[in-house]
Amino acid sequence: MRGFSTNAIHAGQEPDPTTGAVITPIHQSSTFAQDGVGGLRGGYEYSRSANPTRTALQECLAALEGGRHALAFGSGMGASDVLLRVLLRPGDHIVIPHDAYGGTFRLVDKVLQPWGVEYTPVDLADVDALRAALRPTTRVVWCETPTNPLLGIADIAALADVARTASARLVVDNTFASPYLQTPLGLGADVVLHSTTKYVGGHSDVVGGALVTGDDELAERLRFTQNSVGSVPGPFDAWLTLRGVKTLAVRMERHSDNAERVAELLTGHRGVETVRYPGLPDHPGHEVAAKQMRRFGGMVSFTVAGGRDAAMRVCAGTKIFTLAESLGGVESLIEHPGAMTHASVAGSVLEVPDNLVRLSVGIEDVEDLVEDLRQALDAATR
Ligand SMILES: *Cc1c(COP(=O)(O)O)cnc(C)c1O
Repeated sequence: MRGFSTNAIHAGQEPDPTTGAVITPIHQSSTFAQDGVGGLRGGYEYSRSANPTRTALQECLAALEGGRHALAFGSGMGASDVLLRVLLRPGDHIVIPHDAYGGTFRLVDKVLQPWGVEYTPVDLADVDALRAALRPTTRVVWCETPTNPLLGIADIAALADVARTASARLVVDNTFASPYLQTPLGLGADVVLHSTTKYVGGHSDVVGGALVTGDDELAERLRFTQNSVGSVPGPFDAWLTLRGVKTLAVRMERHSDNAERVAELLTGHRGVETVRYPGLPDHPGHEVAAKQMRRFGGMVSFTVAGGRDAAMRVCAGTKIFTLAESLGGVESLIEHPGAMTHASVAGSVLEVPDNLVRLSVGIEDVEDLVEDLRQALDAATR
């Protein structure tokens, strides 16, 4: 078995057989010439169904997650939509995390529920709470770990056991960890989902999604539905993602180094109430995270003393951390989840504290990042 970075750089990416190009070409073509009716040269006929640049990305992602099949999508939500349309029918039930990504909650609550899908939000750090929420109609347990934006940790292997006894599928949204830090299929998950927009792409220049599974029959149904509904990435988007993923291991190491230092600064600052980072020994999920993750990643959340206004001032006061939604790029970002990424869950059980600030710690020089946060916190919580 090859190592992670060897796969990231080579899996699915043999030099181009006709030209020798070392880098996979952007096959910017909607259709492919046939030698006589049905005589496909390389197995390709039309780019909604399959495109060679997309295939290269898919083979790479399958290798990184340790699955036999990967499908690339035009966005993470496009991947979630196809997956849930395949796994759920009217009357079926899904368990979602009580602090699920806002877009996932919106898809389940506003799009699927009107078609007859039922759901229960559950704190998946608590395996007994999952057991209690299961119904005879439960088909899917949807897990995120670490969660967005509260950085909660769920025990993937324990959830997989419970889901299996209930004949439900365990889906893990692995966006926050990336396959470098955590590979859920090896822990018993049935499907891994990514917003490749985030760490996998890693440069904030492309929106995309992916599903990875080891289940041949499920993969076939996913491919059929994706081709039927058409939520595919273009060749250039697939190429940008493939370019980004090559450096995933070195980026995640640096994200983790920098986030550890940032968490240390925040823990010692008088303007900070609580710091949420799974790498901190007092995080309630620290031991589980240490067991299932290689390192603890680049996302850090904290609550600010002085409430919502002080949190807003921190977000407005940084100079290197850019105030923006999204995460996982090389540049550091800061945001106020209550007013930005998680505005769609306001008033629901998924509402987040209004003095919460979320950081996507980038790979800049860590001294600059720590100094930037220190000055913003000093000024905002004077
Ligand atoms: C961003 C995100 C998504 C949605 O992905 P898009 O690429 O924005 O459609 C899903 N899950 C998590 C955890 C995310 O951060």
